[in-house]
Amino acid sequence: MRFTHETLPQRVVFARGEAAQAVAAEVEALGASRVMLIASEREATLADPVAAVLPVAVRHDEVVMHVPVDVARRARSVAAEHDVDALVSLGGGSTTGLAKAVALTTGLPVVAVPTTYAGSEATDVWGLTEDGTKTTGVDARVLPRSVVYDASLLRGLPSELAVASGLNALAHCVDSMWGPRADPIDRALAGEGIRALAAGLPGIAEVAGTDGDGSDESAIEQTLYGAYLAAVSFASAGSGMHHKICHVLGGMFDLPHAQTHAVVLPHVLAFNAPHAPDAERRIAAAFGSASAVAGLAALRARLDAPRALRDYGMPHDGIPRAVEPILAAVPGNNPTPVTRDDVTALLEAAWAGEETA
Ligand code: NAD
Repeated sequence: MRFTHETLPQRVVFARGEAAQAVAAEVEALGASRVMLIASEREATLADPVAAVLPVAVRHDEVVMHVPVDVARRARSVAAEHDVDALVSLGGGSTTGLAKAVALTTGLPVVAVPTTYAGSEATDVWGLTEDGTKTTGVDARVLPRSVVYDASLLRGLPSELAVASGLNALAHCVDSMWGPRADPIDRALAGEGIRALAAGLPGIAEVAGTDGDGSDESAIEQTLYGAYLAAVSFASAGSGMHHKICHVLGGMFDLPHAQTHAVVLPHVLAFNAPHAPDAERRIAAAFGSASAVAGLAALRARLDAPRALRDYGMPHDGIPRAVEPILAAVPGNNPTPVTRDDVTALLEAAWAGEETA
């Protein structure tokens, strides 16, 4: 074996039903006494019990997906005005993303409390949007010092969003098998991530209603554990073909993040699996299935997963426009060589919602 793997320094706390106490302990360990608590309006009621036990200097709720630069600027001003010494984010990837944007210029430590399966909390990647263009970068300052996972906070996550978000996490695992820096440690973490996500997600999807009353917290916890492993492996392996495609499509057609990943994943897996025997074996084993493609198809069927890009607003005449930028972005080490015709066929299938197995 010849590889170099970097493990990112971060504390991870699983504390079902005890987010408030766990976050307070992490803030105290940082020696912080003036916290900026970031949570969107929709996430506010989840954040209230946490706010009650923290030394909160200011609460901030202006959260916008993909972190527009003016939203980041205002959050940084609020942090400066209130002389804060730590950031606590409670919410989905957009909320974590805003805390990262503040940390990027201030160096303030972040304690992240995720309420979706997006996984931003476990990466050192930031993203900012200006004039419709999203820029991403890597910076050690944006990696949250601590992550607190509390399954009870995800009980009210609408099941359609929970499924899409969980499949977004699964996509992190699959792309980690062949990302540009993928190494054996990433593949081991990603395999266990797939196993945990496949075990947890059906328990979430099969819960009727969206009020959360019947939610199975053990299933949510399994899914959070899988989502964390997914993000850790992905942060190390880097974006493979799947993420490059979704990044181009999301930017060009303003598609919803998690749903786009959920739709595209089976098509990339079917495209790469024949030329990636080790990944194929690992993914199949993690699903407990005869093949990787069949395992993902079976899980998607149980989850009633998002199927077609056309359902999320992608225009059909967008396919030829997306082909060149995707071709330019796919990493050179992709297991299957990629041609213009391959990308066109893949996008046609994902647009129409064709089955892969
Ligand atoms: P999101 O954070 O925008 O959340 C989607 C919606 O769900 C929001 O309206 C939110 O208020 C609501 N919500 C969140 N948690 C809830 C809960 N528990 N109950 C009820 N409603 C809840 O979406 P997301 O998919 O979590 O994150 C997407 C963003 O994260 C994108 O901008 C993406 O680029 C970014 N992201 C970044 C990284 C990274 O490493 N930097 C990784 C993954 C995702």
